[in-house]
Amino acid sequence: MKRPILIHPDPRLKKACAPVPDLSDKLRVLADDMLETMYDAPGIGLAAPQIGVLDRLIVLDCAKADDGEAPRPLVMFNPQVVASSDERNVYEEGCLSIPDQYAEVERPKVVDVEWLDRDGTLQRETFDGLWATCVQHEIDHLDGKLFIDYLKPLKRQMITRKMVKLKRDRARA
Ligand SMILES: [Zn+2]
Repeated sequence: MKRPILIHPDPRLKKACAPVPDLSDKLRVLADDMLETMYDAPGIGLAAPQIGVLDRLIVLDCAKADDGEAPRPLVMFNPQVVASSDERNVYEEGCLSIPDQYAEVERPKVVDVEWLDRDGTLQRETFDGLWATCVQHEIDHLDGKLFIDYLKPLKRQMITRKMVKLKRDRARA
């Protein structure tokens, strides 16, 4: 089932999320809902707080369908960056909670991430390029951090004002 995506600014997007203690069918349904919501948007990543659930859960799929890559939906409970490269990379990032706004953000180019998969099995994998950027962006959401928090205050305020206006217009519509 598709879930509505919260739009910045929203207090729920600024909260640190709690670790998931035990995997349950309810959490697996939530993960499936998040994947459906992400693909429908369309987006390449979604974090639980973006649908108002303050659990440490993210989903992502950065496979490039245009290049003939098969979909690779990943569900990560309690994801953690356990190592990151000194080498850094700049990507133009966007966010489903900040529609139509993009800005360059610099992050480590390669990261090792540990997480629990949907069966509760501990996984560890090295991510590079777009996958690395995406997984770091989504994990940031679990700590109440948005990509615009990396920007200069003026730029951040400008984007936030646009979002306030967007929400006002949508509420009136
Ligand atoms: Zn985001």
